[in-house]
Amino acid sequence: MTSSLIAMGVAIFAVVNLVLALAGLSLLFGAFESLFGKPRLTLLRPSKGGNMFAFGFKWNSSKEPAQLDHIKIRLFNPFGSPTQSEVCHKFESKRNSFALEADMGPGLIELLGAQGMDKAMVQVELSSSRDGVCFQFDMKGPKFKKLVMESSDSVENFIKKNKLDVVKVSKPPIDIPIRSFIADTVPGKGAQLAIATNPAFAAQFAGMGSGGGAAAPAAEAVANYAVLKVWIEPGCIVCNACEDIYKEVFEVTSETCLIRPGAPLDNGLKIQEAAEACPVEVIKYTKAS
Ligand code: SF4
Repeated sequence: MTSSLIAMGVAIFAVVNLVLALAGLSLLFGAFESLFGKPRLTLLRPSKGGNMFAFGFKWNSSKEPAQLDHIKIRLFNPFGSPTQSEVCHKFESKRNSFALEADMGPGLIELLGAQGMDKAMVQVELSSSRDGVCFQFDMKGPKFKKLVMESSDSVENFIKKNKLDVVKVSKPPIDIPIRSFIADTVPGKGAQLAIATNPAFAAQFAGMGSGGGAAAPAAEAVANYAVLKVWIEPGCIVCNACEDIYKEVFEVTSETCLIRPGAPLDNGLKIQEAAEACPVEVIKYTKAS
């Protein structure tokens, strides 16, 4: 009787130890996280600013199978402007945890620059158009903006750290080439439209005033001016717009925008253009008198 009690005690002790050891190993290798962890969205640093949005998403695909292929970012901004907006991107479907960089279009810059962001809510949604599964993450506007602007981990690091699939940078679904109003001449067909806006007939219409009927009135020339000082106020969302317009003056880093040392200040019109293009209006300048 006594020996069977001892044997039972030893067996219970062994089972408890085994369970504890397994739990420890599970924790050690992240299996606990993958089995019992909640779906987790991590905002990452895109390789370039502007429209790009980088994120990593981990979920237990064996517990909640899905083929995720859409990301949407929604702004609920009842006290600001715009009061609502949404940007969406479709990507190659993913069956397991993944990370990617998506081109959300210019709407992302407008969303980040919305007025009244401090009282807004942002929802990031990952969904599947095939099986209807959808994961939603809500956060306050300032937190979303901070995560977008201050995230330091790259997609590549996230993939390496979490042993995920190889990174894929997705392109915008439709790439519309920029074409002029006048189409290229079809090879072998000589006919062209003889109008003032066709460059082939520019010489023919040169010098014709508005009385000529076909030529458009010349735009009134705006005098250029020099700038005394140009600076960036806090709030830059590193969209790159200013650098794209005037790279000799503006340098966009991963965190903010800087004025290059010794930047030329004699082209006020170009600086003005960059300031007007800034979605969060943080470029300020004073005209030289
Ligand atoms: S200063 Fe304005 S335009 Fe330039 S990167 Fe920052 S937000 Fe964009």
